[in-house]
Amino acid sequence: MTKPTPFIAGNWKMNETIAEAIALVEALKAEIQGVSGVDIAVAPTFTALDRVAGAVKGSNIQLAAQNVHWEKSGAFTGEIAPAMLSEIGCAWAIIGHSERRQFFGETDEGVNKRARAAIANGIGAIVCVGETLDEREAGKTLEVVGRQVTEGLKGMSAEDSRLLVIAYEPVWAIGTGKVATTAQAQEVHAHIRQLLKAQFGDEAGAAVRIQYGGSVKPSNAAELLAQPDINGALVGGASLKAADFAAIIKAV
Ligand code: PEP
Repeated sequence: MTKPTPFIAGNWKMNETIAEAIALVEALKAEIQGVSGVDIAVAPTFTALDRVAGAVKGSNIQLAAQNVHWEKSGAFTGEIAPAMLSEIGCAWAIIGHSERRQFFGETDEGVNKRARAAIANGIGAIVCVGETLDEREAGKTLEVVGRQVTEGLKGMSAEDSRLLVIAYEPVWAIGTGKVATTAQAQEVHAHIRQLLKAQFGDEAGAAVRIQYGGSVKPSNAAELLAQPDINGALVGGASLKAADFAAIIKAV
């Protein structure tokens, strides 16, 4: 079976003012002119989303949000509704990032509600999963990631899976400079692939992109992306430098 179109997404986290975000995306546009065969997205802060939406119009860069709520509107201070993201042309939402789980108490149940609401509103859900260092050292990686995938995708259909992306991000590799070896990453990706096929069927399960995230940079991207079940990358730090992010995209 042929691999799905690779997908490289940049998570800008709580970085970049609006002016900096525009400068970054303009520099990125210049760097990746003419690049094809790869899907590309950037996830600026909420305040910069609308202006970046204008800047990427007509380019091959799509827009992602860093979170989305499951309700349409109401008393949910600090949250954002799916339709509010669609309104400004946001195609994707990152859901359940380990920083959301670690610092803001997000649970698998909440991740499931957010992801299903995004998909029901036509927004692609990038569902993040990954084990901590303690969990890896205790030999629980596949169990933990398996639970996050199974609980996070509960109730989703094969039809829903067309708007689904999984990002495997070992927590110990995020922002630390430590990268999972290609063998470590591929082992977990293959496990996730089995779970996706079990839930959605062989064809739909094979078509879901599984990104790797955790200190991806130009020097390690090509080797990671060559693995059979690695279909892209979710990039933090290196996505804040247009030349580095472009080099990762070109490594595809
Ligand atoms: C991330 O936060 O999604 C991430 C992968 O960060 P970094 O690339 O900086 O490790």
